Amino acid sequence: MFLRFRKSRILLGMTIAFLIATLTHSLFAADPLFADAQALISLGARVAGTPTAERASELLIDRYKKLGYEVEVQTFTYPKFFDAGSSLSIDGKTIEAWAMVRSIAGNPSGRLVAVPNYGKPEDFKTVDVRNQIAIVKRGGGVQFIQKIENAAAAGAIGVLIVNNQPGNIRGMLMKPSTIPAASLPQDVGTSLLEQAQKTTVQATLTVKAQPDALGRNVIAHLPNVKQPKLIIGGHFDSVENSPGANDNASGTAVVLGIARSLAKSPAAKQIWFMAFDGEEDGLKGSEAFVDRATQPFLSGLKAMLNFDMVGVNDRLLLDGSGTMTSIAQSITGDVNSSRFGGSDHASFKSKNVSTLFFFRGKDPNYHSPNDKTVDPRLLKETQDEALKIVQKVLQ
Ligand SMILES: [Zn+2]
Repeated sequence: MFLRFRKSRILLGMTIAFLIATLTHSLFAADPLFADAQALISLGARVAGTPTAERASELLIDRYKKLGYEVEVQTFTYPKFFDAGSSLSIDGKTIEAWAMVRSIAGNPSGRLVAVPNYGKPEDFKTVDVRNQIAIVKRGGGVQFIQKIENAAAAGAIGVLIVNNQPGNIRGMLMKPSTIPAASLPQDVGTSLLEQAQKTTVQATLTVKAQPDALGRNVIAHLPNVKQPKLIIGGHFDSVENSPGANDNASGTAVVLGIARSLAKSPAAKQIWFMAFDGEEDGLKGSEAFVDRATQPFLSGLKAMLNFDMVGVNDRLLLDGSGTMTSIAQSITGDVNSSRFGGSDHASFKSKNVSTLFFFRGKDPNYHSPNDKTVDPRLLKETQDEALKIVQKVLQ
């Protein structure tokens, strides 16, 4: 009896949970703006140059194509260190290692040679590291790059640095290394160091260091639209460790939402829709775009509208430059001039294109792992406000 009672309670609970889930799902599924934002957020941090950012660009390409737009991907590179997954392999076992920032890539194989003390030049005199991999402790007043250069001078083909505190450390080098260098967490590294003192340990160090990031701007427009009057854009990349919901799945979804709303209208023949990459590294995507655009192309633009962080905070802040301040004012009455600079519209403004920036201000989750939700109502409001302005600009 007790059991049956519990079972039925569980069943009832499950049914209710299922109904709620179905209802919520269908409510939001009916809202493509929110669905697009969610799809980007669920990919995780979209750091420029990483496979996740590439997946995000593919998702956007797919969405735009389904709306009937043609899509171009504009790639660009810029200096940005990236560890694509470095490791140490011993007896077929793989241990995670972290590439030192500015290490060269490579995968040397050899014996692990434990270097005494902290890797000063004299410490290398007591051991033979020629054509082997040196393993040495962090600290002792010897900088990472000094340990690496001392090892290289003694003939080592790779260096492992063992952290002197729990966990691993992403070591920064003052200048690029000449041999691959990576760090190990304190526990794993210390036991390897001790092992190497006692016996022969053969290892392969794989440092997957990439000195440059490859960014991808997604550009969508109707077939044969070569000279738009308007560019509507927002960045889709995010900072490390943040799913970038408000910053900036929100703006990316709104740009896509405007493209969806206008797909069948004549207005779409005068617009390029863009998702910029590399914004968080200093507006790299929009900078690459304006740098490659010809002067006639830029002069042919009436305006650039940028959307960044529009899914949190009730008040929509508009910031205009050039002709866009008065045009936006005639519709909303509440427009600032050049108060907020740090987003992709700044690249266009620097080329004398009139800009309008849609923004709702920072929130406590800005650039943190907690930036994981957006308000569907605010996305919709931003889109509706933008559509009014787009109509006015294209009149
Ligand atoms: Zn942003």
